[in-house]
Amino acid sequence: MRTVHGNTSGTGGAVHPVSVAPAPTVSFDDRFARELPEMAVPWQADEAPDPRLLVLNDALAIELGLDPGALRSPEGVRLLVGTAVPDGAKPVAQAYAGHQFGGFVPRLGDGRALLLGELTDVEGRLRDLHLKGSGRTPFSRGADGLAAVGPMLREYVISEAMHALGIPTTRSLAVVATGRPVRRETLLPGAVLARVAGSHLRVGSFQYARATGDVDLLRRLADHAIARHGVGSGDGGAADAQNPYLALFEAVVAAQASLVAQWMLVGFVHGVMNTDNTTISGETIDYGPCAFLDAFDPATVFSSIDAGGRYAYGNQPIVAEWNLARFAEALLPLLADDQEQAVALAIEALERFRPQYNAAWTAGMRGKLGVPEGLDDEIATALVEELLGLMQESRVDLTSFFRALGTAARGDAEPARLLVLDLARFDSWLERWRALGPDAETMDRANPVYIPRNHLVEEALTAATEGDLAPLQRLLEVLAAPYEERPGLERYAAPAPGGTGPYRTFCGT
Ligand code: AMP
Ligand code: MG
Repeated sequence: MRTVHGNTSGTGGAVHPVSVAPAPTVSFDDRFARELPEMAVPWQADEAPDPRLLVLNDALAIELGLDPGALRSPEGVRLLVGTAVPDGAKPVAQAYAGHQFGGFVPRLGDGRALLLGELTDVEGRLRDLHLKGSGRTPFSRGADGLAAVGPMLREYVISEAMHALGIPTTRSLAVVATGRPVRRETLLPGAVLARVAGSHLRVGSFQYARATGDVDLLRRLADHAIARHGVGSGDGGAADAQNPYLALFEAVVAAQASLVAQWMLVGFVHGVMNTDNTTISGETIDYGPCAFLDAFDPATVFSSIDAGGRYAYGNQPIVAEWNLARFAEALLPLLADDQEQAVALAIEALERFRPQYNAAWTAGMRGKLGVPEGLDDEIATALVEELLGLMQESRVDLTSFFRALGTAARGDAEPARLLVLDLARFDSWLERWRALGPDAETMDRANPVYIPRNHLVEEALTAATEGDLAPLQRLLEVLAAPYEERPGLERYAAPAPGGTGPYRTFCGT
């Protein structure tokens, strides 16, 4: 599995002279590579002919203990693009497997990415610094290992918007244009995204370890995950549990149930919920063909490659559960010596996904509707079900509609009524809801005004690709405070002018 540095093709994998970056002082750990060498291929980024920093996340840099000024220096930019590797860092491409659209692929791995290493942030947490678009690796299969400016900025914008919405996600530290063109349908400018994550461990990482048949590797991976995410000893985390591997599974079930509930509440459609894109940390990862709902419709699919609608908005909870079942299968040898008993334990734990998801979703919906937590479950469920039916029938803009309900809670129902077709039914719903005394301020904290609307994202990315970064910067500022309505930003809150035509996002970006 371990591969020496080498040139695997004409376009990438080349070994370059490495210079030490004097400007940013970064001290990387190489814990993943050390503890799981079978899953870490030492590798190096491609040379970037003309690296130019397009966007840097100053606040995140500071959180990581990095100096934004130093990152802006030529050596800093070379670090962000992977061509200047600090002393002690050992970049690796990570191996993983995964179910892609239901079919198992035993060897995926970082085909265009590298883990530079782990950093300890100012709060003492270990965070991965990872590059995406850094060139071919032994996992590239037929692909070029590269990424274009547009899609990397798209991941930057949407992941940072998700973070500001309070939804667990990988973060984006920087996008650097490489000066190297990338061939897609046309020639596009290339870029590298510097991404930060609690870890890059995925369900697919466990599937990879399991598929090797090496139970010792599987156990070391699970121990590594527990140390990183299952919380250390003494605080009741997985490490303390009688069966730490079952506790790890339970923790991931809970994290994913909560995560997907949060996606559903804001109308986020991930688009490629393959098991290699399902994290152990419970963070959203790999922003490819993702997008936010405008018209509320559970059947919504944005991705051009999801012809069957497997990853439609309304399917996301059940897909998460399916992915967790694949995680359980990978863990079986660790759950119990007797495999029948292991299966029984896994099923019992997985059965908690639905109630946990429902509880998270219902709590979120109560916030969105501003109704008291003590409200009778049956009343709350009936109220929500009926509202969802009305929303779907009228194909209301999800984000605008919930903000308009906030206005209704303050006494003016007209903005909400304007969005709905069956007014008689809606008025009767409004009457029942208002009788509960909805709290408008609670609603404002749960219902964002500003989300990365498709037309705004496209507009900013097109301008940035053509060299004008101002619309991107402006959009990032707006999205950084999504719940706080500000005068002058009306166009960022409104649906696309001219209505919502079918929006298509493209993968293989
Ligand atoms: P994704 O669906 O983007 O999460 O990627 C699935 C797999 O395809 C991963 O193993 C990626 O590393 C790989 N991949 C995606 N795009 C490229 C590319 N341009 N070059 C090499 N590998 C890629
Ligand atoms: Mg992926």
